[in-house]
Amino acid sequence: MDSARQALRWSIPGLIFVLELVAFAAVWRLTSGDDPTDIIDGIGPTTALATILAGIPLGFLLYQLYYRNYRPYGRSVLLFLRYPLEIRHGLRQARPYWSFVRRDRGADILRRYYQLGGHPNLVRRAWHEDPVPDREDAARIRDVTAARTLFPNTRPSSFKVLTLDEPLHAGCSAEEPAVCQKCRYEYAKRFRWNWAVIMALLDYAGNRPDGAAIKLEYAAGSDIYHALGAARTAIATAAIGSIGYRLTFHILFGPPVHVGHLVQFVVGGSLIALLAYAQYQVIHSAREQASTNLTIRTAAALCWFSHLAAVRNGRDLSRPGGAAKRAGSGNGNGAADRRSQRAGG
Ligand SMILES: [Zn+2]
Repeated sequence: MDSARQALRWSIPGLIFVLELVAFAAVWRLTSGDDPTDIIDGIGPTTALATILAGIPLGFLLYQLYYRNYRPYGRSVLLFLRYPLEIRHGLRQARPYWSFVRRDRGADILRRYYQLGGHPNLVRRAWHEDPVPDREDAARIRDVTAARTLFPNTRPSSFKVLTLDEPLHAGCSAEEPAVCQKCRYEYAKRFRWNWAVIMALLDYAGNRPDGAAIKLEYAAGSDIYHALGAARTAIATAAIGSIGYRLTFHILFGPPVHVGHLVQFVVGGSLIALLAYAQYQVIHSAREQASTNLTIRTAAALCWFSHLAAVRNGRDLSRPGGAAKRAGSGNGNGAADRRSQRAGG
């Protein structure tokens, strides 16, 4: 990625974060009966310039936060519901609510690839190690897991948990991968494996004249997907930061509090949480669409590539140096690390 694009990519979540903080500050002023336009009027040219410049390092930090959480399974933002849910339902029942299993995008692309009639030779050649995922492997994870929304009869939201139709391993009776340690391990293993295979396919295509465009197209789509993800992180972080700041400096360690202050804090905090939730959902559904689109496009392009005569017959492999082998093997530490860091990238 060239540095201009990288700077732009990092500055977007950073600027969203700063703008959200300003918007949330206006909400606090509204709830305490002050004029919210004071905030905009109070911003001079120096502050504005400093804000734009601060957007890049802030965005960089937000990206790290986003990638840190980009794992096969992790903890949901509903973590705060953990204790009430545990008291009500017990740990086993409550766990799926506060931890989540990320959708296996690698398996999605592989499954689509086989559905469209992608040639198995390409997968075998790009992924040198055994096991090589076949049609069944890619289909299985979808057969095994089904997404369930957190609240019954609501439209799909970001609060999804995966349920199991059949066990991921022998002798398991768990209904959600999140409740069983072995299921979580199995799922994470598959998640990383499927993703590494997709990256190997893209690397393989990217190293050849006919397939180079596939990788570039994929990278552009992936940038949008992750920019939306980081924007979502920026909104949530700004809301948590704004509420946390008020709580710390105005309620806990501020001047003596009376009931009016507490009411203002609760009203303002709820408004900010609602505002952030609405924006989060809009960005989330845009991201879901970007992901579906990218899955179909990548699978279709790889499928086309796999049927090119040279690729199908393996004649394109007779290149000196073995660069293609390295790119596809997933065994080189650098390549493997890059892939797992960008797992789902
Ligand atoms: Zn299990």
